[in-house]
Amino acid sequence: MSHIGIIGGGQLGRMLALAGLPLGHQFSFYDPNPVSPARSVGALTTGPFNDLERLRKFTNGCDVITYEFENVPVAVAEALNAQLPVLPHPKALRFSQHRAEEKKFLQSHGIKTAPFLFPILSIGALLDGVRQLGGTAILKTCTLGYDGKGQQVIRNESDAHLAWDSLGGTELILEGFVPFDREVSLVAVRSADGAFHTFPLTENRHKDGILRRSTARRMVTGQMEIEAVSSVHKIMEALNYVGVLAVEFFVEGDNLIANEMAPRVHNSGHWTIDGCHTNQFEAHVRAITGLPVHPVSQHTSCSMINIVGSLPDSRTILELPGTHLHLYDKSPRPGRKLGHVTVSLNDDAELADTVDRLEKAVPWVV
Ligand code: AMP
Repeated sequence: MSHIGIIGGGQLGRMLALAGLPLGHQFSFYDPNPVSPARSVGALTTGPFNDLERLRKFTNGCDVITYEFENVPVAVAEALNAQLPVLPHPKALRFSQHRAEEKKFLQSHGIKTAPFLFPILSIGALLDGVRQLGGTAILKTCTLGYDGKGQQVIRNESDAHLAWDSLGGTELILEGFVPFDREVSLVAVRSADGAFHTFPLTENRHKDGILRRSTARRMVTGQMEIEAVSSVHKIMEALNYVGVLAVEFFVEGDNLIANEMAPRVHNSGHWTIDGCHTNQFEAHVRAITGLPVHPVSQHTSCSMINIVGSLPDSRTILELPGTHLHLYDKSPRPGRKLGHVTVSLNDDAELADTVDRLEKAVPWVV
């Protein structure tokens, strides 16, 4: 049994504990928010993420530290790692916290990304850059962007001025716009001895910049999945990674283009709770505590729909076949992820039909 300290007390931390408590582990959380969703599954210490002394006290008595969001300051994670293991290793944070560093890292391992220009330091450079990238591009802040925040699509000169007015003054990257057909992600786990396993490739649909639904059908493996697995394996080997990693990709024709990586359990892997024999949360907990991790097998085709901004009527959701409700104990606020619904059904047509019906019943307030 290990005492696991988690930096961040959001829903991901909560679900890590829900998976790890049955293994006999104990969990503590560190988060600035005193009403973090994880407060009911472990002791919660409150404090800012850059307060190293407070974090040192928090980690006292823990056997291993992990994090459930990627904006933990790298220097803080490295200082903690000098005392007890921080897994995944803090160098994974370095790349995932900065979009330009991330793209350079991916490209240096032969993984395709969108073309990009960095840094963008003036409106002149922005206008030139958009032309250079083919006339349509996305201006993004290099750090702290999430759920579509901190980025703007530019299609003409007036878009460029608007984007510069709202984002100028921060560190910026300009990405070529990828006219993708689909978005997919791959969640994988690696243990300290190098054992590597992946969850099935998942198709994701976003709405208002936030993940709306993810779907993984059973037994659908193709060339694309093989390529995604190989890319993620390269990333994990390069970082000597321990734990769960998620990588999001665009699919454009036969091309797989990496968009970003998250050194943690991921929203597009929530379906694994009800669709796989071992879910992403348990896989992460096993890997960071040195317990065996086996190949991850999917038992049922599964979809996940996020509940955003307002709470659903539980009965309406659970009346539909194959549905499971996962609420995060958060108070409603527009744009906030409050929970998710999974549907696991082996008949793909029935699954698609149920998800379409569910999407009408599951709140989306942004
Ligand atoms: P991100 O914050 O990078 O995950 O971007 C959020 C969403 O914006 C993605 O899931 C895509 O739908 C869209 N997006 C981001 N970057 C690009 C790009 N270079 N080309 C086209 N769409 C993009």
